[in-house]
Amino acid sequence: MHDPLSRCSWCNLSDRDRQWLLFETESWSVFLADEQDYIGRCMLVCKRHCAALSDLTTQEWTDLKQAVDRIEVCLKTALHADLCNWSCLMNSFYKSDPPVPHLHLHVRPRCKQPVLLNGSAYPDAEFAHHYDPKKKSVLREEDRMALFKHLKAHLPL
Ligand SMILES: [Zn+2]
Repeated sequence: MHDPLSRCSWCNLSDRDRQWLLFETESWSVFLADEQDYIGRCMLVCKRHCAALSDLTTQEWTDLKQAVDRIEVCLKTALHADLCNWSCLMNSFYKSDPPVPHLHLHVRPRCKQPVLLNGSAYPDAEFAHHYDPKKKSVLREEDRMALFKHLKAHLPL
């Protein structure tokens, strides 16, 4: 198969992946990330198969701002995040040959105070420093749905 869209797992997300969809705009889907190294980490995925930030249309950029504004307000109100760390890395796509990159951004909320969920406290030990790229997921699986619902409930209109 030579069609990149059919080989792109991000163009063909499973129902299991899609269950963590927080909201979408015209051009972006926003998911709670699998890897919860920082509680509330989300991913913004371009709905169009697109390889790099420089490939975005002006309309997609404008729409990205809407998505960024909405998720930042959500993370700040729901988790009391003091700031958000944004990254657009794309490295793992290049482990395969040929690579099939699909543009997405990561957002990690950073919280001075521990996040409280279902009676569990999740401290951000690296607060005010670069996020730890090797940090493993810290979220207890039984807290994932509570976190998802909590974020959903704090999405601004
Ligand atoms: Zn794709």
